[in-house]
Amino acid sequence: MFNARALGAFAAALLLAGAAGWAEERIEFDFERGPLDAQWEAIGPKLMASRQPVVAAPAKGGPAGSGLNLSAVAAGGAFTKEGVLPADLSKFDRLEFWVHRSEDEARTRPQVDIEARVTGKDGGRFWRRVPLEGAGWQKVSLPLHWFRWGQGRLPDWEHVDRLGVWLRGPSDLQIDGLALVDDDAERGAALAPADVIDLAFKVSPREVRKGASPHAVVAGDAPELDAKQLAEHLEQVAKALDDELPEFSEGPPAVLLVFANDDDYRAFTPRLGERLGAEAPAPQSDGYTLHGVATAAWNPRYGTLRPVYTHEFVHAYLIPRLGYDNHGDWLHEGLAARTQLRFHPQPGFEKIVQQGLADPAARSPLEHLANGRPIPVQRYWQAATLVDMLFASPKYAPHRAALLAAIRKAGSAALGPHLRSVLETDWAELETDWKQWCAAKYGVAN
Ligand SMILES: [Zn+2]
Repeated sequence: MFNARALGAFAAALLLAGAAGWAEERIEFDFERGPLDAQWEAIGPKLMASRQPVVAAPAKGGPAGSGLNLSAVAAGGAFTKEGVLPADLSKFDRLEFWVHRSEDEARTRPQVDIEARVTGKDGGRFWRRVPLEGAGWQKVSLPLHWFRWGQGRLPDWEHVDRLGVWLRGPSDLQIDGLALVDDDAERGAALAPADVIDLAFKVSPREVRKGASPHAVVAGDAPELDAKQLAEHLEQVAKALDDELPEFSEGPPAVLLVFANDDDYRAFTPRLGERLGAEAPAPQSDGYTLHGVATAAWNPRYGTLRPVYTHEFVHAYLIPRLGYDNHGDWLHEGLAARTQLRFHPQPGFEKIVQQGLADPAARSPLEHLANGRPIPVQRYWQAATLVDMLFASPKYAPHRAALLAAIRKAGSAALGPHLRSVLETDWAELETDWKQWCAAKYGVAN
């Protein structure tokens, strides 16, 4: 057994096969030839990786020759080195590999989780949890379009750097036949609107209504939903965002799903989570965006232009454009709330702002509000007005594009790191400016 730094051997093969028109393409690692460390490296001081003869090779077509042994006493993984993979994996459909656990391993650790990971140079990461149970060989096949996003910057299948297997904790296993496979010309790695619409409504007993505009895809099974009208409305929302954020206008159309009733709406997020190999609790709020998919339920009180549809659409639209996932932070929620207010003015909003200004207990210090962590719904008004000032005031608006670029690069909405360098201010000055901005726009409570 070698130390991780001196790995064994592997082979990568690009196989073009198939006679009739469409050729299957694979990037395959069979660990048969060449020095392993030419293309693989181990991450983590407590992980040993080596090339070993395949144990108890199963039937034809499975693991053969040698494989990659991974032995971890703490979290760690093995990854392809920079430059081994093409940067653009967007045409590939799935990642597959064989994995073997010994009888001993299965006895000691009845169930372990490993992760398949694909990372980008900028730190963005796709990943997928792979639970392993029992002993012997099993084949794992993971559709790329159901990979999750890592923390921080959003990953992108067209700008990939490395591929690997991550062991979350102590574990011993052997891997062989690790391959990226493209055998469906129509598929590819991206999650398509049809994938989530299928997942949402395939089992619905009701007719599914769909509407699409250049920047919005709407689908819902509520009988009274006017999906076309909603898609046209959301197109106006997208246009308003593009007009204000022209540097961030490029990205895919955003998907909004409108469920006929609350139960179906709340049941969907756990289902989407499960498809992503994750556990996602049922949402408590009227709308929810998970993995860039906006969801809400039909409510006859509001009809087709329910304000929460606009709110969630803004999340789904801006996540790929701002380049980081919505964590319920001040920027995502502030932008969603501010845009919602613009298209669906809320009577009494002035009063909320006035009360917030008058009562320190009804607002948060901006240093706390804008630390990048989730904010409570009771502070959405504050996030909306902060975004408003940063985007529209003569003092801060000139820094808007630079601020968003810095946030995108950091993969986090934490405002602190950019206060001096981008906004040329500090928390105290920002707080004073914000109070003045609100007082001038919304008045002061008597
Ligand atoms: Zn929100």
